[in-house]
Amino acid sequence: MEAKIVLLPGDGIGPEIINQAERVLEQIAARFGHRFHLERHLIGGIAIDQTGSPLPPETVAACHTSSAVLLGAVGGPKWDDPNAAVRPEQGLLGIRKELQLFANLRPIVTFAELVDASPLKRDVVEGTDILFFRELTGGIYFGDSGSGVVDGVESAFQTMAYSVPEVERIVRLAAEAAKGRRNHLVSVDKANVLEPSRLWRRVAQRVMSEEFPEVRFEVLLVDAMAMHLISRPRDFDVVVTSNLFGDILTDEASMLPGSLGMLPSASVGSAGPGLFEPIHGSAPDIAGKGIANPLATLLASAMMLRYSLHLETEAVAVETAVRDVLAAGLRTADIARGATTVNTVQMTDAVLAKLTA
Ligand code: NAD
Repeated sequence: MEAKIVLLPGDGIGPEIINQAERVLEQIAARFGHRFHLERHLIGGIAIDQTGSPLPPETVAACHTSSAVLLGAVGGPKWDDPNAAVRPEQGLLGIRKELQLFANLRPIVTFAELVDASPLKRDVVEGTDILFFRELTGGIYFGDSGSGVVDGVESAFQTMAYSVPEVERIVRLAAEAAKGRRNHLVSVDKANVLEPSRLWRRVAQRVMSEEFPEVRFEVLLVDAMAMHLISRPRDFDVVVTSNLFGDILTDEASMLPGSLGMLPSASVGSAGPGLFEPIHGSAPDIAGKGIANPLATLLASAMMLRYSLHLETEAVAVETAVRDVLAAGLRTADIARGATTVNTVQMTDAVLAKLTA
């Protein structure tokens, strides 16, 4: 396969971890006979410094003509002024909008070797393997809003709206993913209270019964889901939910494995390139020290191979290599818990060695 991949290193540890992903992607290309054209472009704070914009037009154009986009992280204290006209995060929101990425995928996988870092007991959390689909471009975050004085009282409002096609497309994506996993999908809503949730539930139930009768399907209220996620996380396979509930539930779920530096995420649309990134930020406190954990970004690269390039064997090869280095005892400082640590490059060296083994 020949594919153009845009790399957006961004700020803080972004360039350090993207450098490591580049090494792994080159190794995958060599081992499996692909040609990846890796192109770097500006986003975030560094883009503001160099061009005045957090998302320069050249970056947008390059992303549009790519097969996939791999992002490091954006932001940092240098650009933190809340009154600034331009902010690094605008680059991230802008590229998601440009590429019409309506679904955010967040795998929550606990690694047996790291499970003691979880705030939950080993016997509750061990073996957890959930894939969240959060709707990303609709719902209350994009609804009409306003504020003012009503009957002499200061008030504000925000509207939640969903349309049938918005629900159909994300439920279909999630159901397809469930078919390739453990064949179980849970849709989360608040249908006992919210009208858009009633529509969400109705559409999800229809899509599942008409198009995916072979997938085991359940609905859960978001308040119940918040509890089940902590008490029985192993019981979930694929979970689909709206923008607001997904925002909160995926952050809750990201605590389960107990290590931020291990978690990737992907944002995808119906067509065009997807955007793949670690869920952590630019970690300005450790930027430039060469000690960042590259594994979340390597796992994001694996998601990119799977979901945008459709290279399942190659994706599994990266994921297996990551598991193998953890099993071999290698730890960056953030996941070490007293064990001997390796730095960013050494950790990647070990992954590369497993990939060629
Ligand atoms: P953060 O995720 O950057 O860091 C939180 C803590 O986790 C820090 O102690 C950091 O050192 C550590 N950490 C994070 N990733 C690590 C890794 N790969 N290896 C080792 N340790 C790691 O969150 P924050 O400190 O709240 O935010 C810092 C900056 O990042 C802010 O400007 C914020 O706006 C931005 N941010 C960006 C994104 C993104 O680009 N997607 C996401 C979250 C935060």
